[in-house]
Amino acid sequence: MMWDYEQPVDIRFGNGRVSEIGELARERGLRNGMLITSGHFVRDGFAQRLIDDSAGALTGMFSDFSPNPDVSEVDACAAVMRESGTGFVVAMGGGSAMDLAKAAASICLTEDSIADYHGTGKAMPQEHLPLIAVPTTAGTGSEVTCVSVLTNRALGKKAPIVSDGFFPDLAIVDPELTYSVPPYVTACTGMDVLSQAIEGYWSKGHQPICDACAVHAAKLVFRWLPVAVAEPRNAEAREKMCEASVIAGLAFTLPKTTSSHACSFPLTNIHGIPHGEACGLTLDWFARINADAQHGRVQEFARMLGFADVDAMADAIHDLKVTIGMRTGLKDLALSESQIDDLVRISRHPNLYNNPVDITDEMLRDMYEYLAATD
Ligand code: NAD
Repeated sequence: MMWDYEQPVDIRFGNGRVSEIGELARERGLRNGMLITSGHFVRDGFAQRLIDDSAGALTGMFSDFSPNPDVSEVDACAAVMRESGTGFVVAMGGGSAMDLAKAAASICLTEDSIADYHGTGKAMPQEHLPLIAVPTTAGTGSEVTCVSVLTNRALGKKAPIVSDGFFPDLAIVDPELTYSVPPYVTACTGMDVLSQAIEGYWSKGHQPICDACAVHAAKLVFRWLPVAVAEPRNAEAREKMCEASVIAGLAFTLPKTTSSHACSFPLTNIHGIPHGEACGLTLDWFARINADAQHGRVQEFARMLGFADVDAMADAIHDLKVTIGMRTGLKDLALSESQIDDLVRISRHPNLYNNPVDITDEMLRDMYEYLAATD
């Protein structure tokens, strides 16, 4: 087996470390920074305090974007950055803030629209403003990935753009920033972590370093996600989930995600199911499909996590979803046959081809019909 490993992001982990931003920017000679952050941190005053405490390193703020950010919001952010001569970017938020920031930090150095690169196959320019990523959910792992997932609502399209220029220069993972994440968002983002770890492991592009990360991250999720959901201010649970998140990010960046992520795109786009919940919805189904793939590797993964076999792991995924209040079916949507046809068709996303077992339309239809009949 031949494999390469590369991880260019400098990672700083620990409670309170977000306060190091000003100093780190000065050390790196970065000036005139734009803070891109979600509304939550604007409303509670934390974003302004961060700017005030940065001793002049941060000079602007942009928060005008939605979850699953739209290409038009990236363009608007890039326009503000061009106008204000932004020198570097701090993205403090969930995957939505970080993904918008990655794309805006590149596109602001051109006169282009990000839509030119979204799902078109056109390669992104490599030049970008220096980017510091500060995740506030646990999470997408976007702080260590070269991926920006954007939506083009006008075209009904959600898709990742992959570019080496999207790797942040620095990731500051401060678990205290996640204490305010509401239980439902904690549950959704935690299911994203589990999906990334498991899919990174069974992806056709798997490799040993990412395998070790996947096992570590998945174990942490099964142990700590229910605690983080039930007790939002449990410091140990929040810290362990942040550790799981950043390590799951490392687990899937190179191997890439697979079937559950492919199916999540139409579930989010068409039916508005949050990303992590949409990924988790199909994870136990695909675990059973992939159980005996790769000469027993998936069975071995389940055993390393302490389960008797993949079936037991799939049952545990299902039970975890019930415990943390995630959907286990789509019955409430009363899906019509043509809506199921759409789900099958749009799930045929490139990530589906990373799955270790070839997934046919019949398999997808069986799965969606089962989910459509399940509460
Ligand atoms: P999100 O960033 O959309 O945030 C969800 C909600 O939580 C938002 O309303 C946000 O304002 C709020 N929020 C965030 N942090 C908070 C905090 N600390 N306290 C209170 N509220 C807070 O959700 P997410 O799951 O982190 O990101 C999802 C996006 O990331 C999707 O678009 C998904 O496709 C993408 N994604 C990207 C990658 C990648 O590698 N780039 C990987 C996985 C997912």
